[in-house]
Amino acid sequence: MIPVIAIVGRPNVGKSTLFNRLTRSKDALVADYAGLTRDRKYGEAVFNEQRLMLVDTGGLTGQEEGIDAAMAEQSLLAVEEADAVLFMLDCRDGLTPVDEQIAAHLRQFNKKIFVVANKIDGLSHDVVTAPFYELGLGEVYGVAASHGRGITNLMDEVISQLPMPVEEELAEEDQAKGIKIAIVGRPNVGKSTLVNRMLGEDR
Ligand code: GDP
Ligand code: MG
Repeated sequence: MIPVIAIVGRPNVGKSTLFNRLTRSKDALVADYAGLTRDRKYGEAVFNEQRLMLVDTGGLTGQEEGIDAAMAEQSLLAVEEADAVLFMLDCRDGLTPVDEQIAAHLRQFNKKIFVVANKIDGLSHDVVTAPFYELGLGEVYGVAASHGRGITNLMDEVISQLPMPVEEELAEEDQAKGIKIAIVGRPNVGKSTLVNRMLGEDR
């Protein structure tokens, strides 16, 4: 299984921009309109020869109604099915009450959370990332998704902290499964009888 990583956060913090950079696609909608990506969106990324499944989400506002509620549900579903979460925040806005609500949501999931402080371009890294430590979710990774700054550092850390199946384990799993043999032929020639006899059970 490829590890699944969900990108969550308020609308407009730069989730789709990061998703596009990581998956090198332009497909996710990037716009100045809050919450344009209404659904979950999947894309594959490769880092240090490690494959990852990224999930872009519509964003959480903390006060969901109507379409926003559906978006929030998608975001939370994405978190549920993910192995790790990139919780994205906006350095230009600082720490907002909605961010704190999202953090409270995320804590319930018992998933590995990476706090990603976006839009550090032109700002002083240490100064603008400092407030986010208040969330108590550990290390804060300052990035500029649209410029590519800090992304390698972040992804190196994500990969090093994920439980990855190593090649040998995968090979062993394959061996344990054995080879597959199909039994084919005209109806009534005795295929099922042969299979049942081989398995010692009725199938
Ligand atoms: P989303 O709603 O969280 O998916 O946010 P988007 O990816 O659509 O980005 C929202 C806005 O933030 C867009 O105008 C982006 O160009 C802008 N943006 C994204 N990343 C950065 C960044 O690193 N620096 C700056 N200055 N702007 C960014
Ligand atoms: Mg988006």
